[in-house]
Amino acid sequence: MFVATSTSAVFIAAAYLTLLIPETAATAPTIISRAQWGARAPKHQAANLARKPAPYVVLHHSTGNGCVTQAICQLKVREFQNYHMNSKKWSDVGYNFIVGEDGNIYEGRGWGKQGAHSKPFNNKSIGICIIGDYTNRTPNSAAVQAVDSLIAYGVSSGEIKNDYKLLGHRQTWQTNCPGNSLYTMMQSWPHWAAAA
Ligand SMILES: [Zn+2]
Repeated sequence: MFVATSTSAVFIAAAYLTLLIPETAATAPTIISRAQWGARAPKHQAANLARKPAPYVVLHHSTGNGCVTQAICQLKVREFQNYHMNSKKWSDVGYNFIVGEDGNIYEGRGWGKQGAHSKPFNNKSIGICIIGDYTNRTPNSAAVQAVDSLIAYGVSSGEIKNDYKLLGHRQTWQTNCPGNSLYTMMQSWPHWAAAA
């Protein structure tokens, strides 16, 4: 009797843990797919990251106006893609993901792919761009939470290293990106690194 009780207690504990573990992993955030935002096909397939999981996350701002509705944000994402493909002559939109102040995440090149956003970190980083100009203001909480959940999911799904370093674009290239206010803000985020 004693043994049986003990065994079932262990079984219950094991079953409980099994239920508990998936809850502690980051849940997949909703990502607006390329088809949903009306992406053009890339000129050619992006290369895979040289290092996976990616050891770096590089944060950008787009400059220009922000957006708080999916309709306007999607329009802007299409504009970025056109600019990158037509003027910059890149094969596709440069970022892995784009985030709006509508709280949505828009799929760029996606996970595991080399972007065109942060030379010489393109082959070892996930590049995330927040739509808007963050020189004199910080992004709203919807955008910050979207970035946070995207990175958390990237870590839990093996796309981003557990001990990844978070960098602002200005740490990898001569640029004001991601804007003074966002750059100050992100320095309080847990994985921000003073040096790459
Ligand atoms: Zn940038």
